[in-house]
Amino acid sequence: MVALRSYVNGDWHVPSDEGAPLHDAVTGDEVARVSSAGIDMASVLEHGRSKGGPALAELTFHQRAALLKALASHLREHREELYALSARTGATLADSKFDIDGGIGVLFSYSSKGRRELPNDTVYVDGSVEALGKGGTFVGQHVCTPLRGVAVQINAFNFPVWGPLEKFAPAFLAGVPTLIKPATQTAYLTHRLVELMVESDLLPEGSLQLVCGSVGDLFDHLTDQDLVSFTGSAATGQRLRAHPVVAANSVRFNVEADSLNCSVLGPDAVPGTDEFKLFVKQLVTEMTVKAGQKCTAIRRALVPEHLLDDVVEAARERLARVVVGNPASEQVTMGALASLEQREEVRRSLKALLEAGTLVHGDPERVEVVDADAERGAFLPPLLVRCADPELPQPHEVEAFGPVSTIMPYRDADHAVELARRGKGSLAGSVVTADAEFARKVVLGAASRHGRMLVLNSRNAKESTGHGSPLPMLVHGGPGRAGGGEEMGGIRGVLHHMQRTAVQADPDTLTAVTGQWVTGSQRNTADQHPFTKYLEDLRIGDSVVAGPRKVTLEDVQHFAEFTGDTFYAHTDEEAARANPFFEGKVAHGYLVVSFAAGLFVHPDPGPVLANYGLENLRFLTPTYPGDEITVTMTAKQITPRVNAEHGEVRWDVDVTNQNGDSVAKYDVLTLVAKRPEEQK
Ligand code: NAP
Repeated sequence: MVALRSYVNGDWHVPSDEGAPLHDAVTGDEVARVSSAGIDMASVLEHGRSKGGPALAELTFHQRAALLKALASHLREHREELYALSARTGATLADSKFDIDGGIGVLFSYSSKGRRELPNDTVYVDGSVEALGKGGTFVGQHVCTPLRGVAVQINAFNFPVWGPLEKFAPAFLAGVPTLIKPATQTAYLTHRLVELMVESDLLPEGSLQLVCGSVGDLFDHLTDQDLVSFTGSAATGQRLRAHPVVAANSVRFNVEADSLNCSVLGPDAVPGTDEFKLFVKQLVTEMTVKAGQKCTAIRRALVPEHLLDDVVEAARERLARVVVGNPASEQVTMGALASLEQREEVRRSLKALLEAGTLVHGDPERVEVVDADAERGAFLPPLLVRCADPELPQPHEVEAFGPVSTIMPYRDADHAVELARRGKGSLAGSVVTADAEFARKVVLGAASRHGRMLVLNSRNAKESTGHGSPLPMLVHGGPGRAGGGEEMGGIRGVLHHMQRTAVQADPDTLTAVTGQWVTGSQRNTADQHPFTKYLEDLRIGDSVVAGPRKVTLEDVQHFAEFTGDTFYAHTDEEAARANPFFEGKVAHGYLVVSFAAGLFVHPDPGPVLANYGLENLRFLTPTYPGDEITVTMTAKQITPRVNAEHGEVRWDVDVTNQNGDSVAKYDVLTLVAKRPEEQK
């Protein structure tokens, strides 16, 4: 049996010893051998820092996003092969899709978010400019730049594809190279994933490395610029977080650990309601997907005390339909655990749980399996525990990382919250109810001990992604026992890999540093009208100043009649005067904005293709009939689109009156053409 190779220092490394065997979760046959013997961990980190980091730094966020999309498409073409290997980890096809399609979905999602929410640049400007002095010559703003280290990603065995990809996507987008260390038990699947990623030839050298087996002395070589994202047990997480080098160098360390997630059934959800059925169905799904080896799975089902027996009965009925066995068999709905060791671990944890309750479904020592050998494969049936006394500690403390859940009663909403919180920090919780008031009590009461909370009812059930699915646009992670970390959460996950730096300077310098025009810095008005310039010719600071235009009472009356906006402040002198903010009839804000457009526009066909919105619009001073307005419009941010014939231009607009006071400020968003091929 060949040992898995690691991808380090730009090459595939063959271990220098024969490695330890990995076994098929279903048949017990040896699948591969694993070892990291012979790898110089210091040089692996250095390779990432010296090759991967600089190569990524040459690419803008949009270019990296385009590569993520191409990579996702490449992996999608090889899904079948990954599914087949995934079956050897004990996963059914549905489980494999959860892991593999879910991981590819994260790449797509980050690619699209990167293009929509990040600039086509290498620096991310965070938040608006802060005035730091009265005269406007001293201003501040935050910028985010990538850490110049390696994102070391240590994964758990249960998601060999989703785990690495959900960490890789935001790191890559941020411009930080990745080193994947898969959990040994299922490393053969991650290994094939990385082979496919490398074979795609899309990724800059050094931006992705893989170490199969132990990480050896890698932690000794971490610097302040490296990060660690750990997923696994709380015990390992704690040990690694306490590593002296991590502490000494303040290495950014994210932990996703085990958690005792709960699902609460609302008192309104009595038998016969949609919510009752949804609760039971979701509970059984969470127990059986990935054979319950899901960090977000429901470990504690909290139900109103008078419904305890009804829920137990309904759950047992549904669990009786679960077919355990070889995931390759079509009738099988729950596969094997990842290894025999894992099965032993679950049996041990179940024993502890049974000190607090009784088993009402399943026997940990006996399971009927389809198309497999129940002893050679790591099979267990779904195991449901009924615990009549929810004050006992075990259900809130013992995680049986398999198809195991405990049902417990609660008295009222406050009691449900108290019990939910006894998990001491969970990744996910759910409340199944149609009663919004009950949902509010539980969500807000339990939120500080949860990373994510789902309210499920018949109104959202069809579209709901369910209790156990982390989504790339929302954070995944939880406080306390769950590790205190956060992953993904859209652009938040990208920024996690970057350093936020407050830059204090004069406006001209800040414009130069951020690449975005800042109020108070130089404008160029001497040139041609900026609307006549193609994207490549336009410069930050290019401006047009137009006006003045007098706003008359007739204009205001006409606008009121024409649009139907006859709000009293524009039409009734007496009522307007009685308003605490006005001295009489005022012009509509929208009239001011429309006149401003009439002033700054360059009407002929040209490079400006469309106006697609306004942002940050504020009306600052009333405009009265007789006032004269002037508009100053300045190119603030220029974002060429990759693979398109146009880009986006954000313009700063300041409308002032005859006294020089700003009456309206906003950003105009336009699409501007790149120079046509024949004029290049
Ligand atoms: P584990 O034993 O803690 O292992 C997790 C990872 O840490 C593996 O890759 C493991 O590598 C590695 N590791 C162990 N000791 C290490 C060391 N001294 N230095 C560097 N790396 C080390 O956890 P597991 O049993 O694989 O995973 C199950 C647990 O993970 C469950 O408790 C589950 O709740 C949790 N989990 C949490 C999440 C989440 O997102 N929060 C997701 C999935 C699972 P080896 O395999 O080579 O030992």
